[in-house]
Amino acid sequence: MRLLFATHNQNKFKEVKSLIPSFIELLSLNDVKIETDVEETSDTIEGNALLKVRTIHHQTGMNCFADDSGLLVEALNGAPGVYSARYAGDQKNDDDNIQKLISDLYDVTNRKAYFKTVIAIIIDGKEQLFEGIINGHIITEKRGNNGFGYDPIFMPDGYDKTFSEMNLATKNAISHRAIAFKKVINYLTTLHS
Ligand code: IMP
Repeated sequence: MRLLFATHNQNKFKEVKSLIPSFIELLSLNDVKIETDVEETSDTIEGNALLKVRTIHHQTGMNCFADDSGLLVEALNGAPGVYSARYAGDQKNDDDNIQKLISDLYDVTNRKAYFKTVIAIIIDGKEQLFEGIINGHIITEKRGNNGFGYDPIFMPDGYDKTFSEMNLATKNAISHRAIAFKKVINYLTTLHS
């Protein structure tokens, strides 16, 4: 089965390709010569994943999927959520986002937060959504050098390291994205058998 991943991000693509069973030939937007990104105009993570997959399916007619993720902080009523990438502004800078979150949580005792990934997939015209969540809390200053985004201040439940202090393989085995992608792979495997 040929399956198009609606992303230009080669790091994400490689990570997902390493998880996908061999009966699936995984392609990226670069492989099908689509150069533009779909604008993420929805106000929900689910909405953006659907927007991306529907647009790419419409353009290519191929079986495809798209993902969207965000960090949801309990004391901030789910912010930054769908706006995680641009929490501190349209420059989409990880350090600025982290500093804003640390200052928004100054003196706040409830530090609970979770990362959420939603994957929207269209196979033979049928849409499905899959979700992955990892719970944890936001610490008061950055720790670690690996990863991206909010990794230096997110400590998953059951660990005494932030995502940034873990090696990539450990993070990728437990992350919200991994949980969601494992559900997708189970679904595809069921369809195949
Ligand atoms: P995307 O939808 O995967 O591009 O994620 C949107 C934004 O959520 C990113 O720009 C990050 O700010 C944040 N984010 C998503 N996943 C992660 C993660 O695994 N670690 C840290 N930040 C993340």
